[in-house]
Amino acid sequence: MRASRYLIATQKETPADAEIISHQMMLRAGMIRKLASGLYSWLPMGLRVLRKVERIVREEMDKSGAQEVLMPAVQPAELWQESGRWEQYGGELLRMNDRHGRDFCFGPTHEEVITDLIRNELKSYKELPANFYQIQTKFRDERRPRFGVMRAREFIMKDAYSFHVNAESLNDTYQVMHRTYCAIFDRLGLDYRPVEADSGAIGGSASHEFHVLASSGEDAIVFSTDSDYAANIEKAEAVAPAGDRPSPSEEMTEVATPEQRTIEAVATFLKVDANRCAKTLLVKAEEDDNGNSGLIALILRGDHTLNEIKAENLPDVAEPLTMATDEEIEQVVGCKAGSIGPVALPVPVIVDRSAAHMVDFVCGANKEGHHLTGVNWERDVALARVEDLRDVVEGDPSPDGKGTLEIRRGIEVGHIFKLGNKYSKAMNATVLDENGKSAILEMGCYGIGVSRIVASSIEQNHDDKGIIWPDAIAPFEVAIVTLNGHKSPAVMAAGEKLYEQLRQAGFDVLLDDRNERPGVKFADMELIGIPHRFVVSERGLAAETLEYKGRRDEDKQDIPLAEALPFLI
Ligand code: ATP
Ligand code: MG
Ligand code: MG
Ligand code: MG
Repeated sequence: MRASRYLIATQKETPADAEIISHQMMLRAGMIRKLASGLYSWLPMGLRVLRKVERIVREEMDKSGAQEVLMPAVQPAELWQESGRWEQYGGELLRMNDRHGRDFCFGPTHEEVITDLIRNELKSYKELPANFYQIQTKFRDERRPRFGVMRAREFIMKDAYSFHVNAESLNDTYQVMHRTYCAIFDRLGLDYRPVEADSGAIGGSASHEFHVLASSGEDAIVFSTDSDYAANIEKAEAVAPAGDRPSPSEEMTEVATPEQRTIEAVATFLKVDANRCAKTLLVKAEEDDNGNSGLIALILRGDHTLNEIKAENLPDVAEPLTMATDEEIEQVVGCKAGSIGPVALPVPVIVDRSAAHMVDFVCGANKEGHHLTGVNWERDVALARVEDLRDVVEGDPSPDGKGTLEIRRGIEVGHIFKLGNKYSKAMNATVLDENGKSAILEMGCYGIGVSRIVASSIEQNHDDKGIIWPDAIAPFEVAIVTLNGHKSPAVMAAGEKLYEQLRQAGFDVLLDDRNERPGVKFADMELIGIPHRFVVSERGLAAETLEYKGRRDEDKQDIPLAEALPFLI
């Protein structure tokens, strides 16, 4: 591809509303553009990466024996009523009507559609096991779309669904999918961990999530220092022994002390600077889809006006939540909004694991001890010390008795489930078994966040100049930068020749033949993150050399003109 004929939509400035590196860099490198909250267009440069991720996912799924299908994104309500999820699914389900007034939704997932398809197509146990997958657009009306394509509303998922006559067969395919996912994430060059997960809401007996390790990750995952034990925090806490830490209520008095202690406790817990923390107070969390609701209160400095408070986000940890109105704050805190200050709020800090999805949630009371709406004072005060809010903390013994626990942040890029017969039973999906009897199918389902992977890779591969793509998913593997090519026909000709040579050898090459200053071209190629760069210049040609620099290299090096290809191979 010639850069002069290609949309290089790079930007110098970091967009103000992009909080994490990958979001900033995808915008700055001209990979995506926002259309509306949680809706993004993929520009040519970004789409090349997305397609390469898709290709790796598709190749490994095909290799595993799964068969590719493509189901409609829009789904009739009747199927969701059959499974019971039309009522259960909550606000993430985008519901709509057609011109006849019939109910539809835009699929956030496809268990119902595939189960309907399979109950009509498969008749006999002889056709099983079978695993079907698609790579397709999903829509989830996320409460807080954020971080660009990381948590979008419209996004691309690879979802697969397997069907079996018995649990052993499901188990086999589950293991195959586990291995396939490892192969996919290995090829993508990600530093990831499979962890045990709760199969909770979706039902079923086993579940693993695949997490890319990154400090920006929204999830907490727990590992043993000395064994393979790894789980997400919800699962780890579900199995954690009570332990011999003092009961929270014993520490309560220690906590309900001056506000500075509270500020520091919150800051430590949230891993933010105490001063910044002290600037943000009160945000009202709406009820989420699981029915959890509450207030997030951080400690407010008396010299802050409410408008300033509303304008501030909680750095590093939380996105702009729905901010409370003055009236709500007054109602909740029980004193005039303007008078809220460190003296007015020397509160114990209460964290409720139920909002764990974000950070955890912190509630407070005013100085008279009036509890905030939705907080059961007797119960929650007993949870006063921040560290006590987790059962599982770093240094705890691992549940398998080997080593101690470490906690890290992770981005969920894949999730596999043994569904059992939840959908097949509700929707009567059966085949005839060996004895000619009708048997309810066992099912598994397996998701990968294809578009989320693009952002996750950037979280792990970048420096202050931009993205550093692994070769496997780089939009272009090689950049050839011609220096002053528009003035030097020899430079342009040598650049073109190398371009053809590398292309014929199978490389994805971007020839930066733009009439731009060298510094601009170098900066763009680095920001876009192309792993290998050659520079063709008059000085180099005179010495019959090219300059090479790998995106991670400290230094550039000169190599003989004729050796560019062998050098790359
Ligand atoms: P999360 O916990 O991040 O909300 P999830 O558990 O709701 O994800 P699944 O239902 O397990 O998601 O879907 C399979 C995969 O789809 C996830 O592992 C994730 O990689 C991806 N995914 C889910 N929601 C989004 C989203 N809003 N934007 C981008 N990718 C997503
Ligand atoms: Mg979700
Ligand atoms: Mg999840
Ligand atoms: Mg999940």
